[in-house]
Amino acid sequence: MTTALFTHDDCLRHLTPPGHPERVARLEAILEVLETPEFAALDWHDCPLADRAELLRVHPEAHVAAVERAVEAAGDGWASIDADTHVMAGSLNAALRGAGGCVAAVERVMSGAAQNAFVAARPPGHHAEKTTPMGFCLFGNVSIAAKNALDAHGLSRVAIMDFDVHHGNGTQDLLWDEARCLFISTHQSPLYPGTGAQHETGADNNVMNVPLPPETGSQGFRRVMEAEVLPALDDFAPELLLISAGFDAHRADPLAQLNLVEEDFAWATERLCDVADAHAGGRVVSTLEGGYDLEALAASTAAHVKVLMKRGAR
Ligand SMILES: [Zn+2]
Repeated sequence: MTTALFTHDDCLRHLTPPGHPERVARLEAILEVLETPEFAALDWHDCPLADRAELLRVHPEAHVAAVERAVEAAGDGWASIDADTHVMAGSLNAALRGAGGCVAAVERVMSGAAQNAFVAARPPGHHAEKTTPMGFCLFGNVSIAAKNALDAHGLSRVAIMDFDVHHGNGTQDLLWDEARCLFISTHQSPLYPGTGAQHETGADNNVMNVPLPPETGSQGFRRVMEAEVLPALDDFAPELLLISAGFDAHRADPLAQLNLVEEDFAWATERLCDVADAHAGGRVVSTLEGGYDLEALAASTAAHVKVLMKRGAR
């Protein structure tokens, strides 16, 4: 069995204004390390474009049309959706590749052609709500993948673990009343976007928020993973585990202060693969969310993918 890697050059054509943290160089830094001989066993695939029906599993038609209109309005410059979220000519296809890559990665893993998969795409997706693109995100990539697994593959339990340092408010919004999905988010609080309190538990107790104070660090993070997150995942017994893999909880990241290191991401990936081995036949699909210090992002992604490859090869 192998680890599939989904990416696409279109994700390098979504340009953001000068000085914006969510920039082309992020994906370039990741691809540079994944192209080294150490990762030669990765099974590379182009992300397909998500089709309309896939987007409409979580977003209303009006949202998709609004993103398309914004991209059109940008002309040869940028159109700003909010203070952080900007689109230009290349943004639509980049976003469609991210969503399509997540769906294709689920297909590949569900078919048994790969044990697990990582989707290296941008813009990220976990802040995009039903009708509100925000926080650099246009479409809810991981939620679209989850719905695809439930509706197209007939699964009855899909779990999403989001260890990005920001709360996955979009995923929470898109899957709030989806009882077949357990969504768990660890995130720094207080921090953007301000949501993700413990009392936000979903319509069917299917959302679990674990807010962490600044300076939590490795030990504190591992403690809550072991005490709260992993037992909840075990109880839910997912048939497929999805990961919103943001690496901005790294201590070098300029946007947050959770102070993790790459070994923590490797450790978390190992533990999540344990859950997948116990309940989901080892099936894991992980997708890139945040991470804004290029060196830390590349090293953390490498640590994460290295574990996926080790676990996928058994
Ligand atoms: Zn983030």
